[in-house]
Amino acid sequence: MLIQPVEDLLSRNADHYLIPADVVANVQTDNNLYHAFLVLTKVKYSKIPVLDHGGHFEGLVSLPLITEQMLVFDQLNTEILLQKRVCDVMETQVKTVHDVDDVEETLHLMIDNPFVPVVDEQQIFQGIVTRREFMKSFNFLTHEIGKQYDMIEKDFSTSEKAK
Ligand code: AMP
Repeated sequence: MLIQPVEDLLSRNADHYLIPADVVANVQTDNNLYHAFLVLTKVKYSKIPVLDHGGHFEGLVSLPLITEQMLVFDQLNTEILLQKRVCDVMETQVKTVHDVDDVEETLHLMIDNPFVPVVDEQQIFQGIVTRREFMKSFNFLTHEIGKQYDMIEKDFSTSEKAK
């Protein structure tokens, strides 16, 4: 569990660290891989969300997943990208959060992932929380905590731990 002052300060900034769905680059499940390859190349991100036509979050697609499909006997075959769809190769076992205020869960997921997708109860995609945005909040926390709380160092000198 996070200690209360840390949780409070991070939650206060939670709205700022969500990148809203309308500015997150994405592709659709039925797009072909050629389209996904162009989008990824253009936006310069290696991994982006995949949505269906109803705006539901379905998974993630990355450049390595696509280039793997192009590799046939050590040759790059771009033709294959027109034949396959995003839903054929996308990563589907993706952990999401429902609430950006759930700082602890988001933090845990960001240890292994550069960003965490946020969805509502109906799995409608709301946006992403990125490590970068989260680090800005962490920076805010490190500066603010001393201004808003008195912190007293515990004295372990006589305890078992210190021996
Ligand atoms: P950052 O922490 O800003 O480097 O972002 C981490 C990752 O989040 C990037 O590598 C992308 O995979 C993803 N990402 C960040 N911003 C966007 C965006 N606007 N659209 C799509 N994906 C994004």
